[in-house]
Amino acid sequence: MKLVFLGPPGSGKGTQSQKLCSERGFTAIATGNLLRDEVKAQSDLGKEVADCMERGDLVSDSIVFELVKNKVQECDNYILDGFPRNIDQAKSLDIMLDDIGHKIDKVINFTLPDEVLIRRITGRFTCSSCSAVYNDFYKKTLKPGICDKCGSTEFDRRQDDNEETLKRRLEVFHKTNDLICQYYEKNNLLISLEALKDEGFIFDLLQKVINEEV
Ligand code: AMP
Repeated sequence: MKLVFLGPPGSGKGTQSQKLCSERGFTAIATGNLLRDEVKAQSDLGKEVADCMERGDLVSDSIVFELVKNKVQECDNYILDGFPRNIDQAKSLDIMLDDIGHKIDKVINFTLPDEVLIRRITGRFTCSSCSAVYNDFYKKTLKPGICDKCGSTEFDRRQDDNEETLKRRLEVFHKTNDLICQYYEKNNLLISLEALKDEGFIFDLLQKVINEEV
């Protein structure tokens, strides 16, 4: 099955996709993570995109497209998280998938008021070892400084998870997401999901999508 997750930063796409990967054998193809890996590795590509990401702007379609293309070819069941981010990416994705005989099954649009996102984003941190996601305000580790899942004591905070960059990321998101939703609605693929609901409820709904009960 092939899923696309749309939604503003902090809407829980990454958390849910992680759960689906560990419990249902999906592969997450998260363009933000792929780009951050390049920045961390200080590759040529990473150096090219670092400033743009730090500002909260979208990096060029061609760069992201190549990253996604390489990944989808290797996978059968996957979640595209953070891609497509504009209508050109959505159209190019369809053409690329068609070429390799893949087809998107469902597109989930996570919705959440902007006011809620600030705390979700500025409080967010992840385990450096297993990528479990935590939050200073909502979901601390059970023992301070120790990951609940793997026991690691190393954590990361994203450079772009600050109020100023978030403002720009939200502007960019609102400029493009409606059009992407309309595009997928026309193809009868879109399911909108109120992301304020608790994690368990959302996960149950996603399970129904996967089991084709929705
Ligand atoms: P994310 O982790 O999805 O919040 O993405 C972090 C940053 O990576 C974004 O603010 C963009 O700079 C870049 N990025 C991620 N996905 C895309 C995409 N599909 N197209 C362009 N830029 C992207």
